[in-house]
Amino acid sequence: MFDKILIANRGEIALRVLRACRELGIRTVAVHSEADNEAKYVKLADESVCIGPAPSAQSYLNIPRIIAAAEVTDAEAIHPGYGFLSENADFAERVESSGFVFIGPRPETIALMGDKVCAKDAMKAAGVPCVPGSDGALPDDPKEIVKMARSVGYPVIIKAAGGGGGRGMRVVHTEAALISAVTTTRTEAGAAFGNPTVYMEKYLENPRHIEIQVLADQHGHAIYLGERDCSMQRRHQKVLEEAPAPGIDRKLIAKVGDSCVAACQRIGYRGAGTFEFLYENGQFFFIEMNTRVQVEHPVTELITGVDIVQEQIRIAAGEKLRYTQKDVHLRGHSIECRINAEDPFKFTPSPGKILSWHTPGGPGIRVDSHVYAGYTVPPHYDSMIGKVIAYGDTREQAIRRMRVALSEMVVDGIKTNIPLHQELLVDTHFVQGGTSIHYLEKKLAGQS
Ligand code: ADP
Repeated sequence: MFDKILIANRGEIALRVLRACRELGIRTVAVHSEADNEAKYVKLADESVCIGPAPSAQSYLNIPRIIAAAEVTDAEAIHPGYGFLSENADFAERVESSGFVFIGPRPETIALMGDKVCAKDAMKAAGVPCVPGSDGALPDDPKEIVKMARSVGYPVIIKAAGGGGGRGMRVVHTEAALISAVTTTRTEAGAAFGNPTVYMEKYLENPRHIEIQVLADQHGHAIYLGERDCSMQRRHQKVLEEAPAPGIDRKLIAKVGDSCVAACQRIGYRGAGTFEFLYENGQFFFIEMNTRVQVEHPVTELITGVDIVQEQIRIAAGEKLRYTQKDVHLRGHSIECRINAEDPFKFTPSPGKILSWHTPGGPGIRVDSHVYAGYTVPPHYDSMIGKVIAYGDTREQAIRRMRVALSEMVVDGIKTNIPLHQELLVDTHFVQGGTSIHYLEKKLAGQS
């Protein structure tokens, strides 16, 4: 096992990784920007290194600074968390070529999955069901594109191979709009992601977002830890997640889970990963793989009892998986509410000083957050300040516990989206379960 790990991230995930390390008896190095000098995990870490000014480009995305910090502190491995450099193949490569262990997949795997056209090809070859569409990148010839769209059937969605974070996508409803949409998406993708390749998919009108969590070691063993339902989204950003996904045939999930495991073995996957699917009319369609730990990993931890971050570290250290698929039992139900520093209904960011901060507790409640009373939420980063996760024997109990938890929670000084979550938790469609990815936006627009 490692003696010392450098955590190349900030916020709640930096604290989450730090806690996993401490439990495993591993010393920690926190790297931070000037805006995060006062962060809780910076104080809790065994060592800390300031890697630059507040803007991420000069600190959390500054590869030479992070590697230099690992060198001066004698860290052995680097945990990238999520966001920032976690899915940057070049970073993983430079970490490994500098003699450190990257806690994540091999750089080639990150590069493969980072190109969605290549990722879909690899998944298809492994027998994972994909959204029908162009087989690979769109050709240059407009006539061919028109022909393809006719055979896929409108509406279609044009997506950038290098896209991410819900950007680089355009829905097309009619043939008249097709070619200009392709051209614009290509231009934008070239500018934003440095890769103008685009592809076409059938646009699913009412899908749910269901994802499968996997773990794979370096000895050819892989398992899946059930699924999560992340359909409650706004602008392709997840708001509330749960596990298991309500109302989906367990046999079908087992089949898709097995195909994800087969895909991991085929591509030599290493570490924790997530296969994202759209689910519509009883069918699963792969859209992309995330090669890192996800924000919503706690809901899986609560229903499986597996500590995903610790497993990432064990796998990176070369240990064999301690679980076989038979050891994975889903128990109960878990829901996560992402707490953001923002206006609950206008969604404008609300950074600033937190004057009071009281978190809930009691049976089945977990709070993952790095903030405290007196902490100032910096304006430079993502607005998420923590996550409240509820566990219950049943979905109903998890919902009830979450309602009680949020009613106890007090955050003064800044606005948060807690009132939005409170509305969702009593929403009849949510309570029933199984809403589509468009549900929240329609509700916010007053259509449901
Ligand atoms: P990103 O990497 O930017 O997150 P994804 O491919 O995961 O991109 O897609 C993000 C979201 O866009 C999905 O969760 C879904 O809401 C929507 N989406 C993507 N592809 C389709 C599709 N074929 N049909 C309908 N919605 C889609």
